[in-house]
Amino acid sequence: MKEKLLALKEEAFALIENTSDKKGLQDVKVKYLGKKGPITEVLRGMGKLSKEERPVIGALANEIRQAIELVIEQKQTKLQEELIQAQLESETIDVTLPGKSIKTGNAHPLTSIIEEIEDLFIGLGFSIAEGPEVEQDYYNFEALNLPKDHPARDMQDSFYITNEILMRTHTSPVQVRAMKKHQGEGPVKIICPGKVYRRDTDDATHSHQFMQIEGLYVDKKVRLSDLKGILTVFAKKMFGEDRDIRLRPSFFPFTEPSVEMDISCFKCGGHGCSVCKHTGWIEILGSGMVHPNVLEMAGFDSTVYSGFAFGMGPERIAMLKYGIDDIRHFYTDDVRFLEQFKRA
Ligand SMILES: [Zn+2]
Repeated sequence: MKEKLLALKEEAFALIENTSDKKGLQDVKVKYLGKKGPITEVLRGMGKLSKEERPVIGALANEIRQAIELVIEQKQTKLQEELIQAQLESETIDVTLPGKSIKTGNAHPLTSIIEEIEDLFIGLGFSIAEGPEVEQDYYNFEALNLPKDHPARDMQDSFYITNEILMRTHTSPVQVRAMKKHQGEGPVKIICPGKVYRRDTDDATHSHQFMQIEGLYVDKKVRLSDLKGILTVFAKKMFGEDRDIRLRPSFFPFTEPSVEMDISCFKCGGHGCSVCKHTGWIEILGSGMVHPNVLEMAGFDSTVYSGFAFGMGPERIAMLKYGIDDIRHFYTDDVRFLEQFKRA
């Protein structure tokens, strides 16, 4: 029996030596050390041995079992090392090759412009207000002095969901909501940036969805000269310190008086060029003193409170500032266009 065990050992060792992969080692392990293996078989037959022989053969069997286990383990480690070595040799890195650059994104030009305008007005004491894009007819039109049959509604045809619910056509309903929240107590000093929707045919200067930023300041004794002062600061910060502004009479149902604000052309300095259509001035935004009806509907006493409001399109500002010729560039997600606005 002793010889049989020793022979098994030799046989196993030889097999292990000749094995060159993990799978083969596993097979040897199962074959010699498994429950149905020859060593277990020998141990089972120990009952036939004499009392003196039993511990000697038992000890030898265990010894051989351990020896085989050890040799398998050593072989396993050796195979692993060989594998790593082979990998290292096959995957050598050429450190002189040019590296792969990591692609980074950048803020969308509209986001940048909006953040720039937000920062500017926050610096002037305004806070940011937001409201729903799916809006009630009341907030979008009626509370802004645009009753159901008002002809000025034609200028802002929208996408209606029901007769009373629509996609907002401007961010002005946010102003109404903010004023109502104040329950007749000023000051209200907000800017509202956001998406708006109009039933327009898309072309180089029109889009059915675009951005607006509106501002509102309601308090006691707010005057048109305050509006002019704020707009002058805005023009100089956005388009250069030597910008002048001018106000032209205009009409909006929700302001009285209403004005359009132009800036002196930043390209030609007022001499006339293609940017300013040879007038020396560029139209930037619409504004005016909040109509007393709008104040009253929002719960403010119009004999005590007054205010101004203005609204502009970030797309237009960005197009002017960056010389972009088509509003559709902002929405088509062309990386070649967007990557031009990467900040260094
Ligand atoms: Zn010009």
